[in-house]
Amino acid sequence: MMFQKVHLRLAALCAGITIVILLAMSLGYLYISEQGLRRSHYVSFQNDMNTVINNLDQQTIITHEWLTLMEDNGKYLINIIDNGTPFLYNDRSTPEQKQLFETAWNIYEQTFEIQNLSAAFVTYHMEFLFSSKGYGGNDYYACVATSERSNGTFQVMLLCSMEPLLHQIKTQRLLFFALDVLAIVALTLFSWHFTRRILRPLEENQRQQNQFIAAASHELRTPLAVILSCTSALIRASEKERPHFLESIQSEGMRMSRLIDDMLLLTKAGSFRWSIRKEPTELDTLLLNTFEAFEPIASEKSIRLLIELPEDAVPPILCDEERVRQVLSILLHNAISYTPKGGRIRLSLTFEDKYTRILVSDNGIGIPDAEKERIFERFYRADQSRSEKGHFGLGLSIASEIISAHNGQLLVSDTPGGGSTFTVILQRK
Ligand code: ADP
Repeated sequence: MMFQKVHLRLAALCAGITIVILLAMSLGYLYISEQGLRRSHYVSFQNDMNTVINNLDQQTIITHEWLTLMEDNGKYLINIIDNGTPFLYNDRSTPEQKQLFETAWNIYEQTFEIQNLSAAFVTYHMEFLFSSKGYGGNDYYACVATSERSNGTFQVMLLCSMEPLLHQIKTQRLLFFALDVLAIVALTLFSWHFTRRILRPLEENQRQQNQFIAAASHELRTPLAVILSCTSALIRASEKERPHFLESIQSEGMRMSRLIDDMLLLTKAGSFRWSIRKEPTELDTLLLNTFEAFEPIASEKSIRLLIELPEDAVPPILCDEERVRQVLSILLHNAISYTPKGGRIRLSLTFEDKYTRILVSDNGIGIPDAEKERIFERFYRADQSRSEKGHFGLGLSIASEIISAHNGQLLVSDTPGGGSTFTVILQRK
């Protein structure tokens, strides 16, 4: 539940930030690109306008062909007034266009106060923005070029509709909007999956810890209950019965202390490396002692415990004897726990040039490949339902912690014919 909330928040944060950045960037780009479009549209209008003005300057007679060419060429509407009266050419225009020009001329006259430049052969022009929106039309760039001639004033109005530009801008905005929506959907999905992937190991860890705490408290409660009941029995017990209760209290107390030690050991695994005290150790003796200690436990379960040692004398190697004994006892405990009655466990030692190998191999239930890596994790137990005393899923993580503090390796493989084999590899020097 807690992780779901964190997941939701993290995903929202991750998606939110990326989406804000994406939107800011695309709006910025859109703005710059629209400015560019407007500018280039205006520049092309200015270029064409200059051509008209040049033509007006040079040509005394405006031909129909030239005008038609200008209009057909593109997006222009042309209207001409010769000495105050509409030019014949204007008759080509539709009634709407005539209306449009009438309005535009009015605006032109209201906007610009044209002083009469009395000098002959002067051409000048005025540009303005003209909107016929109020009459259901479009926006235009407008320009009026006036040519003062000896025989009167000749005026040409050029209207360039902004409709194509606005259409282009609108299409671009729609495209950006669609792309942004797609990107937002993709980013949201991505953040959702991405944050889930990040959180999964944490969640798994948390789950295992919770499970461990539950198991550990359960395990601690049992001996505690025994101790408490023993102490109350002790008060009433006869002198003869006392040792029995005291023994129980002691052994239960030791079990509790072992579990607490394990927990503490793992919580400070980092500093654990410093507590390794290496001394020359005869591994064959160590193995033999361990073998003897486990023999009775194995035979109680009708399991045959075998030992194989090199025939030649074994030179001592540098290691922490107590810690290595702890590893062997974890491995043998496991082997006995996970091997059914009538099984066989082999403890062996081999020497190579640089390495010493200790093998604990059983023909028990074995470990599926998918679990082989996980069994060394803290709190991991392959079979969750197994709640035998002492099985907290800590044994192998302690063992591998100890071996890596020796710069060695703890490996697991299948025993040929079934079961598991754990191999401890220690450096000889
Ligand atoms: P546990 O306290 O559960 O034994 P360990 O860390 O020692 O915890 O082992 C982790 C898991 O690895 C065990 O729960 C068991 O499933 C598996 N395992 C360990 N040793 C053996 C073995 N010899 N044969 C089969 N499974 C094993």
